[in-house]
Order: sequence, then C-alpha cells, then structure tokens
Amino acid sequence: MRQKIVAGNWKMNKNLDEAKKLIKGIKKGVKDGLNDNTRVIIAPSFVNLNTAIKRTKKSSIEVAAQNMHQSKSGAFTGEVSADMLTDIGVDIVILGHSERREYFGESDALLAEKVDAALENNLEIIFCFGELLEDRKSGNHFNVVESQLKKGLFHLKKEDFSKIVLAYEPVWAIGTGETASPEQAQEMHAFVREIMTKEYGATVANEISILYGGSVKPANAKEIFSKQDVDGGLIGGAALKAEDFLAIIKSI
Ligand code: PGA
Repeated sequence: MRQKIVAGNWKMNKNLDEAKKLIKGIKKGVKDGLNDNTRVIIAPSFVNLNTAIKRTKKSSIEVAAQNMHQSKSGAFTGEVSADMLTDIGVDIVILGHSERREYFGESDALLAEKVDAALENNLEIIFCFGELLEDRKSGNHFNVVESQLKKGLFHLKKEDFSKIVLAYEPVWAIGTGETASPEQAQEMHAFVREIMTKEYGATVANEISILYGGSVKPANAKEIFSKQDVDGGLIGGAALKAEDFLAIIKSI
C-alpha cells in the first residue's frame, strides 16, 4: 500500500545537544498518535545517527542517513559505507539530493551505483530528483526529471521498488522560500507515476510513495499534501524546529 511519509532532512545542522533536544521534541509530539499510515523519518548528520537511533528506539520515528558511499570499504577518507549504517541500525538513506548533485558533483551514473550498494545492504532509499530553475523556465523540466529517474533507477527490477521512495525536489524551491504550487507539484508527481507505469506497470507506480520537497512549511503543507499524487514531504528548514515539523506531520 502507498504510504504517507514526512521526512526531515537536517542537512549540516544540529550539534549533539541540539539534536537530542530536537528528537525529544518530535518524540513528544509524535507519541500522541498519528494516522497509522504515516511514517515519520528524521535524517541527522552522520555523527548524530547513533544517538538518534538509540533515542527513537521506543518510538515510531525512523532514522535515515543523508548520504553514503557506493563502495563496501576501503581507502575513501571521510566516507561512510552502507554496511556501517545498517550496523548501527539505520535502514534508510537519502540519495541524490540536489545539494549532493550540485556541490559534490554526484552524477546520475554515480547515483545508480549508490542505489545498488544501498539495495545490496537492504537499505530503503529516498531518491531525490528535480529540475533547476533554468530547466523549468525553458520548459525542459519533464525531460530532466525523466532522465534523472531513468539513469538513476531504471536499471532496477520491479521488486526493488518496494525499497524506494521518490522525492521530487525542484531545485529552485529548495531553501529559497519559493514553493512549487500544489498544482505544479501534482503535475510533476502525476508525470512521474505515468513514466513509472510505462516502465514498471500500474501496481509499482501506484504503490510507490512520491514526496514533495522544497520550502514546505506549516502554512503550505496541508494544501500540497492534499494533492492526490503527493504522498508526503521531504522537509529541510522547517524540520529543524520540533513545533514546525510536528505541524507539518499533522497536516498530512
Ligand atoms: P527546504 O529543503 O525545505 O529547506 O527547502 C528541502 C530539502 O532540501 O530537502
């Protein structure tokens, strides 16, 4: 069944103490019952994952990593492998975030390798994609999104998609305060479901969750989440305050 998901991408924010406080705040809010079909995920930085895992153990909150390396192990200074994540109890990883693509040069081909490494280690993947402002202005946004999905994911088998969550994040809407309108989000999500149907059939396309990300906040979450092909959100800035994150969760 298609799941509703609200995931908080903390990016390079929150030291240990701040992370503990934020987890505490989210836990408190989440405890009083959510819609059974809504998953809540937080993605702290690598150094705070262990703490997050321990402190969310008795709650329904799940913990994701923001990135990982494609190799099993080796001389890759500063990197973290899939196995290191699963070993401490992390079973979700965000891949393909536009900041990884843009600032760290992660190509579609590299992301396809990371996807394979994550699946080999039984990690669930939140796979991000989305167009730049110039792509949207030139009317090329559908092509860009289709190409990112094809190159990053379409080598997979149908069964693999039970471990994939998609996250449409138009780059022009990330951290800019500029949100895609609910109609723009719905239009792209419907397009993604259409290409998923063509490639993998209606069952896979209908069951995969497609999140929207890009300046989601308490004030606009309800309207975006009300769209039929939007199954939740990947939240950046507004996931850094328990109060805002909880308000977004409640909007679903
Ligand atoms: P934002 O970030 O909510 O701060 O725009 C979203 C994201 O990058 O996932």
